[in-house]
Amino acid sequence: ALQKYKYIKMGQLGSGSYGVVHKAVNRETHELLAIKKVAHSSEYGLSDSTIREISTLRELTHENIVRLKDIIATVNGQHVHLVLEFLDCDLRQYLDTYPQASEIGRIKSIVLQILRGVRHAHMNSIMHRDLKPQNVLIGVAKNQVKITDFGLARCFLPNADRAYTERVVTLYYRAPELLLGAPTYTSAVDLWSVGCIMAEMVNFEPLFKADNEIGLLFHIFEKLGTPNKDVWRELPGLAHFSDQFPSFPGKPMQEVRGIWPCPGQGVGAR
Ligand code: ADP
Repeated sequence: ALQKYKYIKMGQLGSGSYGVVHKAVNRETHELLAIKKVAHSSEYGLSDSTIREISTLRELTHENIVRLKDIIATVNGQHVHLVLEFLDCDLRQYLDTYPQASEIGRIKSIVLQILRGVRHAHMNSIMHRDLKPQNVLIGVAKNQVKITDFGLARCFLPNADRAYTERVVTLYYRAPELLLGAPTYTSAVDLWSVGCIMAEMVNFEPLFKADNEIGLLFHIFEKLGTPNKDVWRELPGLAHFSDQFPSFPGKPMQEVRGIWPCPGQGVGAR
């Protein structure tokens, strides 16, 4: 319990699917931090595999991944506080607030930094599984990118308590194999998300948008074509697949709105 007083809690930064995030400062070093309170629902506390994964996350040191600096358990053992380094804002807020976010050079740099962080985690056998603009943090002055929530999707169940239940989970960045309920998937799910984020930065709107899983799948199929068992052998066996799905031929990439700049109308010109 003493350890808790190492940090002074400041204002609330946001609330995510796991719990509330507060700004804080280290009493001794004056370093700024973000402290995220997460609930874990198992009455037996954190499982061995969760503890193993958290220790791995603590070792994950890369300039494009937020550092998990400390972990504090509350006295009753119901909550865990994750102490993270602090950044100015997330990519959602950045895109909505800063005009320079539309500069093509900055977009390229941000995407490259996201990919570097993702590569480092994948090389350490850690998948993110929920990459989205809200999980990409930005240091504005240096156009610095740090991915947050890496690997946490498996460690902590999204908070089932009161306040968070009505929160809508963003699906836009979810890979089709997850939407279709594939029993196994690979780190490719993160690259799908990076592609969606990149397209959104260029287009200023999400590439695929729907408020439910089936709607999102149909949007993906409309643009990229409905897959079939010739291109995806396991498809017919997937839990959420139906052979009644509409069969879209897919569109040429140039016609998928704005992914590529039109001739003479580079994205930088906007
Ligand atoms: P979740 O993934 O459960 O939605 P997040 O970790 O994304 O929760 O935190 C919610 C919000 O809090 C983020 O979108 C961001 O605005 C803010 N936040 C989280 N971590 C930090 C941090 N390290 N520095 C600054 N802001 C943060």
